[in-house]
Amino acid sequence: MTRVQVGKHVMVNIKRRSLCDNCLVASCVDLRRCRVTECSEHVALFLAFKKCSRCGRVFEVFSNFAALDYDICQECNSDQNEQERF
Ligand SMILES: [Zn+2]
Repeated sequence: MTRVQVGKHVMVNIKRRSLCDNCLVASCVDLRRCRVTECSEHVALFLAFKKCSRCGRVFEVFSNFAALDYDICQECNSDQNEQERF
C-alpha cells in the first residue's frame, strides 16, 4: 500500500499488488489471484486525478497503481523503465 497525494490536502491509498485491489466492480473476482495490471472493466474506488509532472497529461491515479513514480503517468513511467533497462 502506498499513499499518493492528489490534491493539496488529499491523499489516496493505493494497493500496489493488483489493479483488482483498487477496483469497485464487485462481480469481478480474480479467482486466479494473479496480478492484474490492465482491465477494461476497471472502476476506480473513486475518481482521483493527477497531472503528470513530466508530460503534463492528466491521469487517473488508481490505474497507475504499479508506478515507480506516482508523480508521472503510466506512459512516462514505462518510458523510464525502458530507459533503466538499457
Ligand atoms: Zn506523462
